[in-house]
Amino acid sequence: MIVMKFGGSSVESSEAILRVCRIVKTHRAEQPVVVVSAIGKTTNQLIELAARASRGDGYSARKHLNAMKEVHHRIADDLLQGARHAAVTQSLQNSFREIHSIIHELSEDGRTLTPALSDYIASFGERLSSEIVAAALAANCVPSTHLDARECIVTDDHHGSAAPLDWQTYARLRRAIPHLAGSQVVVMGGFIGASESGVTTTLGRGGSDLTASLVGAGIAADEIQIWTDVDGMLTCDPRIAPAGHRVHSISYDEASAMAAAGAKVLHPDTVKPAIRQRIPVVIRNSRHAEREGTRIVAVAEACTNPVKTVAARRDLIALEITSNEVAPGPELVRILHDFCYRRSIEPALLCYQGDALILALNSADIAGEIEMEFAGCVQVRLRNRVALISLIGPGAGWPNIAARALAALRGTDAVVVANGELSLSLLVPQQELRRSVLLLHGEFFKEIDPTAFSPVHAEQPENHEADPMLAFTLRRTALLASFGYRPV
Ligand code: ADP
Ligand code: ASP
Ligand code: MG
Repeated sequence: MIVMKFGGSSVESSEAILRVCRIVKTHRAEQPVVVVSAIGKTTNQLIELAARASRGDGYSARKHLNAMKEVHHRIADDLLQGARHAAVTQSLQNSFREIHSIIHELSEDGRTLTPALSDYIASFGERLSSEIVAAALAANCVPSTHLDARECIVTDDHHGSAAPLDWQTYARLRRAIPHLAGSQVVVMGGFIGASESGVTTTLGRGGSDLTASLVGAGIAADEIQIWTDVDGMLTCDPRIAPAGHRVHSISYDEASAMAAAGAKVLHPDTVKPAIRQRIPVVIRNSRHAEREGTRIVAVAEACTNPVKTVAARRDLIALEITSNEVAPGPELVRILHDFCYRRSIEPALLCYQGDALILALNSADIAGEIEMEFAGCVQVRLRNRVALISLIGPGAGWPNIAARALAALRGTDAVVVANGELSLSLLVPQQELRRSVLLLHGEFFKEIDPTAFSPVHAEQPENHEADPMLAFTLRRTALLASFGYRPV
């Protein structure tokens, strides 16, 4: 068995879902279990509409809902016919009616938007996309069955970013999936789960990758595939440096460090469930299934480049904390960890620098709170709007790397704040982020180990004619639409 996870952009349209069907079909013999994200940006829209409704703006919340409804119905109309179309359409109607009444309760009846209700609203994205994809596979001659992820993914009740309860989850996955997977492709939504008492939860933004990995570990899969919109783990976020390179292979530790440092292509916890059983995780491009992607394994292939990727986290504040009372040792680190934990804040960085501790966070409100909570014992110096750039790779911790990085960033207000075995992190002012990343990328990838990296292909316009199934469906949809018909 293998797990194939398709992210939002890989299921963003009927064309994209047909591509998914074709990819799954080619892997049929490996008994795939398919995990899908919400369609396109549905999760953002659900979160946004809930926020608007809770502010009393039911009108614009309903506008968001209608746009989302139209996209889902159009995709179902494009891809499905007959009984399958009727069943999915009915389910879409029920769900959108339910969201509609929640909007009403929030905006007009004074219902409170609790974290649990937020999760419930956000869960519709994956619930709907997984039903559509299961039906689309069946419509394209791939026997499939839909599984509600909330029946298997058991989590704590930390709404918004619930932690999976691994062993209970694995037990349920083992009961639910293997006996089906021989004859059908099991399709489930990522990102969502339920607490032990059955309340819907979510695993945090980008959490479908984690679902895929949990499923992989639960069923002891041979491979976990993360299908996305880029060729794999690249030497840099392509939105910053489009001329990067694909990294052929990275270790679990490198992958965790890259994801935590801001390489969004992977949720930071993805590899954790895979590590114990050493299940390979492969990142691949759903628009170019022929490309090999990046393999994440226990021991990566040898690479002469010390750095494999430059990752960045933006929109941070950095607090430089010094103390007269408590030396900036492990005790102060523990106190600050507890402080963040109690507020559900995940620090981007907490490390020593000389006599100070550096705490980098997403939230600006906390600086005043720290001063209040520790009044008198700590001094806090605040740096607003900073970004944390990390160099990650097998030699990123070597002593000469910091010197090379600082030389490349000459004239920039950059400071090295952390140096681990596989990573080196620098704080830079936010407005210098792009330039700094480009300079560092230029410095560390001017020479490339050709056995470890490949150039990223320039995106070609899509050639639908190369895919007969896709070309046929698009022609049929266009023809029907030109006569004003929608498929029934
Ligand atoms: P999905 O919807 O498939 O889960 P995401 O948007 O979560 O996709 O992740 C893919 C995106 O991650 C890419 O489009 C890219 O912009 C971003 N990204 C950031 N850093 C990297 C990196 N080092 N390598 C590849 N992609 C990266
Ligand atoms: N749909 C969820 C999100 O947008 C989960 C995911 O895509 O991985 O965060
Ligand atoms: Mg993602």
